[in-house]
Amino acid sequence: MAWSLTVGYVYGTAVRIHVTFLLFLAWIWVAYYQRGGAGAAWDGVAFVALLFLCVLLHEFGHIFAARRYGVKTPEVTLWPFGGIARLERIPEKPSEELVVALAGPAVNVVIAAVLLLLLGGNVGMEHIESIENPQVSLLAKLAAANIFLVVFNLIPAFPMDGGRVLRALLAMRMSHAQATQTAASIGQGLAIGLGVLGIFGNPMLIIIAVFVFLAASGEAGQVQMKQVAQGLLVEDAMITQFETLGPTASVGDAAEALIRTTQKEFPIVDGAVHLRGVLTRDAMIRALQAQGPGASVLEAMAEVPTVGTRTPLDRALALITQRGAPVVGVVDSGGRLVGLLSPENVGEMMMLRAAQPDARFGPWAKRSPPARPVA
Ligand SMILES: [Zn+2]
Repeated sequence: MAWSLTVGYVYGTAVRIHVTFLLFLAWIWVAYYQRGGAGAAWDGVAFVALLFLCVLLHEFGHIFAARRYGVKTPEVTLWPFGGIARLERIPEKPSEELVVALAGPAVNVVIAAVLLLLLGGNVGMEHIESIENPQVSLLAKLAAANIFLVVFNLIPAFPMDGGRVLRALLAMRMSHAQATQTAASIGQGLAIGLGVLGIFGNPMLIIIAVFVFLAASGEAGQVQMKQVAQGLLVEDAMITQFETLGPTASVGDAAEALIRTTQKEFPIVDGAVHLRGVLTRDAMIRALQAQGPGASVLEAMAEVPTVGTRTPLDRALALITQRGAPVVGVVDSGGRLVGLLSPENVGEMMMLRAAQPDARFGPWAKRSPPARPVA
């Protein structure tokens, strides 16, 4: 990801800090400096840095819980508004999602408990109000902030952990898609309530409400897309008409093909129609700038994953998101390239199916429609 610095790796997960987070730290320093001089400025930065260490540990709570179920996490990024761990997938088994969702806040419960023990148990709500005051002990503020993190994250609305906890609990009694829909509706109801509170009180609540409302619709949409894909195969959605380039082609040849067609990705195939890689429009332009039109497509191309024609479409979609691949090559049983699958053409097919769920057009018309869950 651009604009973020990798500061290290923990068990295969890259820990990144977004540039805006560093700007945020600088802003904190200046804000505290104006109020109480250099001493206060460093105290302020130390508190925010420690707070975000707690946020990072919270994310690693999720990451380590997910590892138990075989889900890897390539990276976690710290932003001024919190941490985002990019899990390869969210476990769909309700009990597993429940554990993964709860593991994050559980870390903050432990941190708060340890800090409270260290402080001898005398920290109360008054410290949350005086959190801006540099005189209040750093540890007490940190304990209060961890308690706040637990409460905030357990609000039962996406994208908070509480939304996932709610979905997991609902999914124990209904289908995953239904549970998501119900959890999203509850979250949106909460967001509206929060927005109304914001009108009469803190305007910050209105911003949070809008954020929560949009996140809930996004989550519901994603699950709908997955549900549409269920029961379909890669061959139902793949592009079958496209131009290919030979291994001896130059980037200049590829540029000509780019103009001649509407394609943006060109597969490079050898004499046996085996896929060697894919040359994207961006890679083509980079190669033209760096090496000129004579450069070999083999040097400029990128390798992409391949799937069989009978692979379930949802699994191929997951592969595209996990690997960040521009396209996926579709091969027949002999390993020959017979199709391409891109996020765009899958999206087009989804729109067609959403518009006419029972229509009998397209390759899937040959088979009976996928089974729908009984309401
Ligand atoms: Zn969390």
